[in-house]
Amino acid sequence: MKHIVCASCGATNRVEQARLLEAPVCGKCGEEIMAAKPMPISEAAFAKFVAKTEVPVLVEFWAAWCGPCRMMAPQFEQAAKLLPEVRLIKVDSDAAPQLSQQLAIRSIPSLVLFKDGREIARQAGVMPAAELATWVRSQLGR
Ligand code: ZN
Repeated sequence: MKHIVCASCGATNRVEQARLLEAPVCGKCGEEIMAAKPMPISEAAFAKFVAKTEVPVLVEFWAAWCGPCRMMAPQFEQAAKLLPEVRLIKVDSDAAPQLSQQLAIRSIPSLVLFKDGREIARQAGVMPAAELATWVRSQLGR
């Protein structure tokens, strides 16, 4: 069993490992909890999501005014399709000043990879989807 936090409602779901890639849905709100697309997450919901989600989590910090972030967005979307076993989430850094400070985000876009609730790697700047997927897999030892 793996615990997966729903990015939409924040409920913690239990999913059998073998069923992780079979489009499991949230028992509370019915949203797909392993959807192959980046999900926005609020500052308030972030800590629980990262701490309780038992698959790797890749976070993009971005902002609406940031030109490179607009270039990164479609790459990040594509990377979500390339990394079905990883949850990709997006944090609007303007709406998450405390979290950005806590994680010492100095430039955006910034990508931070978490495993078992702990940061294991980060990368700043725009990156093509395929390169990003390769970087994530290498960090996860896959
Ligand atoms: Zn839900």
